[in-house]
Amino acid sequence: MTREQAEKLRQQRRRQRLRKKRIKAFGLLAFFIIIVFSVVFFAIKGIGYLKSGSEGQDLENPIGNAGIITEENGEGENSDSTAEETPAPEVTPEPDVTPAPTEEPANTTPVGTKPEQSWSTMLVNKWSYMPEGYVPDVREISYDGVSPLNNKFDVRAADALELMLADARAAGYNMYLVSAYRSHDYQVNLFNRKVNEYKALGYDDATAHEQASQWVAIPGTSEHCTGLAADIVSSTWYNHNSDLTHDFEDTEHFDWLYEHCADYGFILRYPKGAEAVTGITYEPWHYRFVGVEAAKYIMDNHITLEEFCAQ
Ligand SMILES: [Zn+2]
Repeated sequence: MTREQAEKLRQQRRRQRLRKKRIKAFGLLAFFIIIVFSVVFFAIKGIGYLKSGSEGQDLENPIGNAGIITEENGEGENSDSTAEETPAPEVTPEPDVTPAPTEEPANTTPVGTKPEQSWSTMLVNKWSYMPEGYVPDVREISYDGVSPLNNKFDVRAADALELMLADARAAGYNMYLVSAYRSHDYQVNLFNRKVNEYKALGYDDATAHEQASQWVAIPGTSEHCTGLAADIVSSTWYNHNSDLTHDFEDTEHFDWLYEHCADYGFILRYPKGAEAVTGITYEPWHYRFVGVEAAKYIMDNHITLEEFCAQ
């Protein structure tokens, strides 16, 4: 064998070795790709099985709940479509068990039988105006913790209000009646004063009306004009707070009112979380006479007067 032949043979062998190395590398790469693909495939398939398997029923809950939450925000349809995509990757059996109890069982199975509607359940809100020219027959409330202004109440419900205030005092909870009946004229003045405040700040007529309506009920929409609504707080609390504020709910006086108001025919008229239904923000001080039967039905079922009247 000549030197040239030997050199050629060496080069041939080198090429063969290189080819073998390449094949090996290719093989490894292919093997690696197959592994990765199969891991991804089974991961996706695994979720698919969870979706269509026994967990299927529970999976509907997070989507359903998302619908309920966003309905309150007024954007139900938009976020519903994204809600279907988001819960899927996080599917684990534990979080799926919890959403069910957050649905309101009170709405599905009413407590007690619903009493008939009557004069005492008259609905007045920003969508349902008080009948024009309606003036209730009112009398002064006999109680020494009453505001000198707006201290009258519908004669048919005045006894109940006096009894509630007296019983609260006997139980150790001294109340103060901030505001009861307001005449239509009084409400008109109250509203116009607020409108003028905004006009003085440079707002145009329409905007001033819009802004004022956030703070004072538009005449015809205030429950106080029915003679059936009363703003009640504790007298010591009122001495330290010139305004009606939400922290009244932290007092024992509020607890007493919330627990016993229905016994006297009153309801907490603007509950927390019902703003979209009542059109009014939470007011822990505002109680409305609706009659004992209706009050018990409304408070026991945690509904509003709007929902009671719609049933
Ligand atoms: Zn009020």
